[in-house]
Amino acid sequence: MADNQTMWKELGMDLEMHDVLCDVLPQAFGDVYLSQENRPESMDFFDMVVADIHGIRPAELIEAQKNGTKVFGTFCVYVPDEVIIAAKGIATGLCGGSQFWVPGGEKVLPTNTCPLIKASVGARLDRTCPFFRIADVYIGETTCDGKKKAWEILGEDVPMYVMDLPQMKRAKDIKAWEEEIRSLMEMVEKETGNKITAESLKKSIKIIGDKRRALARLYNFRKEENVPISGRDVLLISQIAFYDDPVRFATMTNKLCDELEERVTNGVSVCKQGDKRIMVTGTPMAIPNWKLHQLIETSGAIVVCEETCTGTRYFENFVDEKAETIDEEIEALAERYMKINCACFTPNTGRIDDILRLAKEYKVDGIIDVNLKFCNLYDTEGFLVERAMKEAGIPVLGIETDYTDSDAQQLRTRISAFIEMLNN
Ligand code: SF4
Ligand code: SF4
Repeated sequence: MADNQTMWKELGMDLEMHDVLCDVLPQAFGDVYLSQENRPESMDFFDMVVADIHGIRPAELIEAQKNGTKVFGTFCVYVPDEVIIAAKGIATGLCGGSQFWVPGGEKVLPTNTCPLIKASVGARLDRTCPFFRIADVYIGETTCDGKKKAWEILGEDVPMYVMDLPQMKRAKDIKAWEEEIRSLMEMVEKETGNKITAESLKKSIKIIGDKRRALARLYNFRKEENVPISGRDVLLISQIAFYDDPVRFATMTNKLCDELEERVTNGVSVCKQGDKRIMVTGTPMAIPNWKLHQLIETSGAIVVCEETCTGTRYFENFVDEKAETIDEEIEALAERYMKINCACFTPNTGRIDDILRLAKEYKVDGIIDVNLKFCNLYDTEGFLVERAMKEAGIPVLGIETDYTDSDAQQLRTRISAFIEMLNN
């Protein structure tokens, strides 16, 4: 801890304010995570990562920087980590998931901005997160209006690069994304001083592919009738995926999966008799946003799937690893990333198809469609999602929430009533 203090000071952090965050996190983590019974032993690694989230990984990143490595901070699952790794850079997620950072964001952003954007901006401007201090360059994207404008404000404080994400999925849009990936490559090469070759890109495509395969393997266990791992634990793992070294992450996730395999064989489950299987759809849940999962899993249900950017949108679909030339690789990257179905696209019927497919694959009893307050995109699309689910006979509950606890009681009442209804 003493070493962490020195590191945080050298990063120019507001130590006094940061101490407040360090004081509340262990309690929140204990309440949501350590209170669970019968957790897989291999969760130890992920618990350890969170326990020292502002220590271990930031120290690794700083060490890498001392050896000339550049760190790139990202905010969206459309930004291809493969390109960064191919130039020997490090990619780290920067999305803020705590109410602690929101007031800092509100100093410069309209109150009616989604909490994810406010927290991300607040974490940088208030100097209370080491990851936001360490990143040499931030990579934003033109996904939603709130983000687009936030980049201009962040750009006054930190080098900011913005990728122009098309908002339709015609052939020419996929071509346009290919061009954006080429431009990103140029920027990353310039920053790192390392040339991206067909060989280095092939290698990084495989590294990220292995990470996605590990997550896909983990999610597969949730399709079991006797689910061997809680939704809370899987959410935590998905959140850590954005920060951790990708090779280590895949290794530790596969180790956990080996244990889950044994659990399935031995009939060990975290489900209680009668627990309902819930899929969460909608906006991302950045670390340490565990609120909804905690409410659902302490109300007679288990979360078996997340159709979110901290869920299936992050790992589904693979980049074609057979691509050989740099042009083929870029094309393969563009194709894979444009398969993600975010509400910023129009039309976005692919997302409805995904939800219907996932509901079947994970044998869900009901869907909770969650929308972060002031996210106009997912809020509007929620109408189409709910209608399609009703037509398919899948019960759905639409909710809107933020990072505060002020609505927790009201949400618990609504979620409990929904789960009760599934029982009848
Ligand atoms: S919800 Fe859309 S904009 Fe937000 S991280 Fe996911 S893909 Fe990116
Ligand atoms: S949740 Fe919605 S408003 Fe917030 S960053 Fe994502 S797309 Fe934008």
